[in-house]
Amino acid sequence: MSSMSSGQLSINRRQSTPVPAEDSPNKRSLFDSILANIAGFNLQDICSTRRHSDDFKETRAEYLALRLRFMAFFYAVAIPLWAPVDYLLVRPEHFTALLIPKFLLSAFLLPLGFLTLRRLSSKQVDILLALAFLAPSLFYMASMWIFNQGVPEATLAGYALMPFLMVSMLGVFPLTMTYGAAMIALITSAYLCLEFSLGKLLTIETANMLWVFVMLGGVSLWIQSGQLLMLLKLYRESTQDPLTGMINRRVLMKRLVAEIERIGEGKTTFCILMFDLDRFKRVNDNYGHLMGDKVLKTAATLLREGLRQCDIVARFGGEEFVAVLPDCGSEEATAVAERIRESCYAARVTAPNGDLVQLSTCVGVTEYEPGEAIEVTLNRVDELLYTAKEGGRNRVVHGQSEGFIGTT
Ligand code: GH3
Ligand code: MG
Ligand code: MG
Repeated sequence: MSSMSSGQLSINRRQSTPVPAEDSPNKRSLFDSILANIAGFNLQDICSTRRHSDDFKETRAEYLALRLRFMAFFYAVAIPLWAPVDYLLVRPEHFTALLIPKFLLSAFLLPLGFLTLRRLSSKQVDILLALAFLAPSLFYMASMWIFNQGVPEATLAGYALMPFLMVSMLGVFPLTMTYGAAMIALITSAYLCLEFSLGKLLTIETANMLWVFVMLGGVSLWIQSGQLLMLLKLYRESTQDPLTGMINRRVLMKRLVAEIERIGEGKTTFCILMFDLDRFKRVNDNYGHLMGDKVLKTAATLLREGLRQCDIVARFGGEEFVAVLPDCGSEEATAVAERIRESCYAARVTAPNGDLVQLSTCVGVTEYEPGEAIEVTLNRVDELLYTAKEGGRNRVVHGQSEGFIGTT
């Protein structure tokens, strides 16, 4: 095949000025690349949630809430159960004084545990988690202060070690370094405030304890970020298409449900674009699957480049892609689809033998009609795509449920 034909993936032999459309360059910094190669992770992934997708944030929030729930319920019950031990070991006046903070802590953790049963955003989970560690920090301060009242007595190990227990417990959660460090700082500050109020801030004992905080905090951060990395890895493997890096169909369906929920909350509707590369099988047949993969990656890059940051794009199937354009009318969405179709048609991918392969795509465009099941919208856009194929390929077809169909 030596000429380009409209509406099909076709091949130009050794054209002199190809339109470059291969993979986009890797945008990692040098430091990131070194770290990725030596330690096997990307620093930005564990430092903050900035690079995390909304869906991952939600997944992590569910995971954090689950662990927080267990922790809150466990301590809400365990703290009152500790009272008989106190009764046997603590001076009677201290025992009585300890009952109130104990009751308050338990009474605080119990509803907090119940709150985690609700569907929470990642920010809400972050706040609950901070409260769940702030409350025992205050309890620790109160208990230490009580032990130093009247005739002071040696603190029971269970109480004295509370801040270290808390720092260690942070390792149960897959936290970012920033958040984890802030929590460790919170616990350490409570300890330092207490030492200050007891007039022991500038003692060797406090300096020694601070050193233990630093060491234990470092280990805790290591464990937290290790958990976060593992969660990210598993998440990415199960949600991302390894070839194009796009989200897969399963995540797309979740995102669509979320978009529909947002319409219920007053946001405007969204449009769906469904792409299917034309005569893609020929590329595989003529040049092999590796070249087919290269063409798919190129198409994915062109799609991403043609969409906004807020748009969602997924690999829907083999050579099919779906884009969701929030806050976008069908006219605007059709114009976007048309631009992407054109950029695909202008692109060439170099085959191993030097041939230049042109890609073309059909696009179905439709607007989600509030109240309809998402399957209905997807079936409609699928049919529009079929119409585009029937019409000769390399074209965009848009339409709605009332039957209006337009072709560009
Ligand atoms: P049409 O214009 O009607 O869409 O024709 P087509 O050839 O694009 O469609 P068809 O459904 O006949 O073929 C799709 C091909 O896509 C078949 C399958 O082998 C290939 N394919 C699916 N996934 C991948 C992949 O990940 N890599 C490669 N190289 N090929 C793939
Ligand atoms: Mg197909
Ligand atoms: Mg196809």
